[in-house]
This record gives sequence, structure tokens and C-alpha cells, in this order.
Amino acid sequence: MPSRLEKTLHTRFITDLNELCERLNLSKELSSSLKEATNKYSFLIPESLLDRVKINDLNDPVLKQFLPSPQELEKKEGFVRDPLSESSADENAPVDAPFPKGNSCLLQKYANRVLIISSNACAGHCRFCFRRNLHPRPLFPIPQEFSSNRNEEANNAANFREKDSSAYFDQVFRSVRINPNVNEVILSGGDPLTLSNDQLKTLLDYIKTIRTVKRVRFHSRVPILVPDRIDDDFPACEDVDPSNYGAMLVLHLVVHVNSPNEINNRVAKALLELRKRGYVLTSQTTLLKGINDTRDTLVELFEKLANCGVVPYYLHQLDRVQGAAHFETTVKKGLQLMKQISERLPGYAVPKYVREIPGRKSKVNLLAEPDADF
Ligand code: SF4
Repeated sequence: MPSRLEKTLHTRFITDLNELCERLNLSKELSSSLKEATNKYSFLIPESLLDRVKINDLNDPVLKQFLPSPQELEKKEGFVRDPLSESSADENAPVDAPFPKGNSCLLQKYANRVLIISSNACAGHCRFCFRRNLHPRPLFPIPQEFSSNRNEEANNAANFREKDSSAYFDQVFRSVRINPNVNEVILSGGDPLTLSNDQLKTLLDYIKTIRTVKRVRFHSRVPILVPDRIDDDFPACEDVDPSNYGAMLVLHLVVHVNSPNEINNRVAKALLELRKRGYVLTSQTTLLKGINDTRDTLVELFEKLANCGVVPYYLHQLDRVQGAAHFETTVKKGLQLMKQISERLPGYAVPKYVREIPGRKSKVNLLAEPDADF
């Protein structure tokens, strides 16, 4: 019987490596050799993605992003549990949320933006995720006391409307309501598109009541992994009132995508649907060794995105999270790739090459600061 999350996403999850091996004609011994890595970091891939994975190919660039590896168990200097120091950032979270202090679902790095961990669930478990050691985390809008594991909040979602959501939102957003500088709310996770359409609409309706907030930005991998999630009932931007455009809430979706093989016709259709519903679409890609670290792969990816009406915005240097060292490409190589793709792509299809450094106020532009390091 499908879980609530599977129903919301319109796909089944594969969590058993034996099943994956069978479906992709991979050796049966593989799953036992990966047991230890799977015990440390859970395995999950949506069935909807398998049509973009080659049969019997362990080097497939889509599969490699989700397939556990013994290399994840190796300790590498400089690779840590919380590479962006988000747990300590929580200590200063300017919100009196109903969670223990130092464990807030709201992060504020910038004066005019707040980030909400809106869901711990994802449509797939990426092996290089920088938050992989931080799950489970306190959640919004399902509070911690109702959610004990990464995908369980979906089970509580059915009761969500029955709770006094308004009082709860007032409490979580109190610091935003009294701070006129905050004009943007970022919904992150996990993946915010694992929330149901009802939950998203309730949340957006609430945010609209905060007059200073003009933009909501979703960060999501879902339109790529599970394109059918963009269904008929998915929230749309409200109609523009030309006499009062300042009152409009702009919806922006940053699609997380790493390989051109992830984009097929169904994904293109989902992206088109989002554009029709008024979303501003940009993308974010992580530079990953053996997956997208060649000129031709990146050119193909950014061309495909541009053809789907998505502006490639960030190419991220890998965050140095424990267990993901085998995905790291050097900054020197990243800079070479940037030069090569700039010669092949129109300017609007060339993303910024950036890295996050804890304590820095904003992302570091590696073209401007190639030696930036921790
Ligand atoms: S979808 Fe994003 S948050 Fe979820 S596992 Fe992948 S990288 Fe991490």
C-alpha cells in the first residue's frame, strides 16, 4: 500500500537494493557489498527516475547519485558532518519556535531572507547531500513532536489542517512579522515539494498575510525526480493586479539538477507547467566527479535547461560533507570547465561557479576568488 508521501509524489519509492539490482539487471552480490554504507546513510530512489537510468551500468550518471558506495565509509580530512555549520547557526536563529533552542526550523543568514526547513522528506536520497547527517531535523510546518523520522511527517500531514495552523504559523513567523527587512522566504528541506498541495497552499496563504514578504523561493529536486508531482492542483501564482503589483507574492523555484540525462520529455513538460503557473525558474547544479565534470556534459545540461525555460543560476563546488569525498572535483578543474563552457554557451546559460564557506555572509564567487577556502 503506497505511503502518503508516495501518493503526494505520484510514484513508488525503492528502498531495497535487491529490488534495484533486479530492476537494473545489476549483480545480486552488489546489494550485500553495500549493506554497511546503506546502514549508515539510507537508500531511497523514486521509481519514476528509473526510466532515465541505463540498464546494467554502474557508471550511469543518474544512478551514481543515489547508489550507496563503500567509499562513503572512508574518513577524509576536511570532510565533516555539518560542512556549513548549520547546527551552530541554529543557535542564533531569531525565532521563538516551539522547538528546543538551538534546534530551530528557521535559519536567517541574511538580513532580508529567512530559510525554513519545511520538510525532512526527499524524493530520493542523494549520496552527496550536505544535510545528510542533520536528518531528522525539527520541521515546519509539522513540528518535531509529531515527526520522528525522515519520511514520517507525511503520515501526520492528514491532520495538519485540523491543527490550529494559524496560531502555529504566527509563532514560527513571529520574528519575520516584526522585522520589516525580511522580504523573502526560502522553503528548503529536505524538499518542500514533498508537502501536499493543501499544505503548500495553506502555507502560501499565510505568508501572503505578511505584507513585507514579496517573494517565496522553493528549492526542489522534485520536478526532476518526480515530474508528475506538478499535477493539476499544484499551487499557481496569483493573477497580477497591474494597479497593485507590489501586493503580489512572486513564486520562484530553483530546480536542483546535476546531469543532462535527468531531463526527459516528462521533466520538460513539468517545467513548462510551472512556467505556465507563473513561477520564475532557475537552476542549481553541484559539480560532481564522474557525473558532470566534463565540458560536454555541462554544456548539454545547461543547453537543455535553457531550452526548458530555466535559467542556469549556480554551479556549486561540493560541500565537504563526511562520506562524499569521492564526488569532489578540484576548484582548479572547476575553473577550467567554467572557461570552456563560457566559450560554448550564451551568457545567460552560464551559471555562477560558487562555494559556501561557513561564516561568510554570502556564497563565494570562485571566478572572483579562486583561492577561497575554509
Ligand atoms: S534532494 Fe536535496 S536535501 Fe534531499 S537528499 Fe538530495 S540533496 Fe539532500
